[in-house]
Amino acid sequence: MNAALEAALAGRLAQQRERHRYRERHVTQGVGVRTSRDSREMLAFCSNDYLGLAGDPRLAASLAEGARRFGTGGGASHLVCGHNEAHTRLEARLAEWTGCERALLFSSGYQANLGVISALLGRGDTALHDRLNHASLLDGTRLAGARLERFTHADVEDCDRRLASFDPARRRLVVTDGVFSMDGDTADLAALTTQCEKHRAWLMVDDAHGLGVLGARGRGTREAQGLASGDIPILVGTLGKALGTHGAFVAGSETLIESLIQFSRPYVYTTSLSPALAWATLTSLDIVEREPERRAHLAALIAHFRREAAGLRDLGLEPMPSRTPIQPLVLGAESDDRVDNDRAALDMAQALEEKGIWCSAIRPPTVPAGSARLRVTLSAAHEMADVDRLLEALFAVARRLAPWEEASS
Ligand SMILES: *Cc1c(COP(=O)(O)O)cnc(C)c1O
Repeated sequence: MNAALEAALAGRLAQQRERHRYRERHVTQGVGVRTSRDSREMLAFCSNDYLGLAGDPRLAASLAEGARRFGTGGGASHLVCGHNEAHTRLEARLAEWTGCERALLFSSGYQANLGVISALLGRGDTALHDRLNHASLLDGTRLAGARLERFTHADVEDCDRRLASFDPARRRLVVTDGVFSMDGDTADLAALTTQCEKHRAWLMVDDAHGLGVLGARGRGTREAQGLASGDIPILVGTLGKALGTHGAFVAGSETLIESLIQFSRPYVYTTSLSPALAWATLTSLDIVEREPERRAHLAALIAHFRREAAGLRDLGLEPMPSRTPIQPLVLGAESDDRVDNDRAALDMAQALEEKGIWCSAIRPPTVPAGSARLRVTLSAAHEMADVDRLLEALFAVARRLAPWEEASS
């Protein structure tokens, strides 16, 4: 053991605990929303498995078949000898699904975002981000060495003003989540597209939480907002959320994809995605297309939750204006004691846990200081009665725990 290393790290860990920001992992068993947490039965409302596909036996069967036919592991990077028929088929299918010329697989969404931004931008260029963008998009900008600027969340006018202030001779990339992962609201893609055209800037949309879920055919935020398929020049999607497998892809023009293959270090210097997973993801896409009833059921759950959860506002839990499966409840929006909110979020999550409901507390720095929340996510694998059970637990816990309520009454 190295004493200097231990001392340096222990201090930081202690500080993390004092700030109520210490993060812990829990062991789950089984699949889907009826699971267990550290050996206790739980009804989960915290996964991104929005269509309930992660535990679908048809995907498991395809995964096994894919492993037999193409291998469990890719064995090498895509550019050496790890690119196989399962990858080719999935890329073709994803291109067709998104309406883009081509698609390129990445090992994860995090890596795709590092890979795109670092391939497209360099020193002196600017990435202009929505303030609530996913961390991987910010990290991609850092890897690129580009200037990182942010516009006020969902404020297209602020985006416009900032774009106008950048040197038009340099590359300018506007970056946004399609669905914001901690808030559940969506970007206005039509307005951003128009602005990027006006300023000759580029637009990149990370639709990790929209694909599979939004739009009549599950083609994501773009489809839900009525934009044509070619309108988003750089689209990132992940396979580990609604599609129930793992990995990610970038979709766009032939030129974009070829540029990534040549210049994206996070693409080049890594082992290819498991071909078995690529094969299983083809089955996910079949299900996404052929079983729209999953989206219809999910939409009914969301509508029910939104209607009933409105009453939580009086108990200090503020529902956010989201129409997606991400339905966060922000703690003590009126209170200005930030540390208290962080702790209250943890206390609530724990009280819910005692009632067999698993719903994660999200604290800074994942969300802005003072906006700790319970991030409730709904899935097509839930039944209406599950949502009622969640609501009942939320009301009971909020009545008991909301400290600001007692203070003001
Ligand atoms: C989950 C997520 C990612 C990362 O994707 P992984 O495949 O889990 O690495 C990227 N962007 C957004 C918006 C996400 O929600």
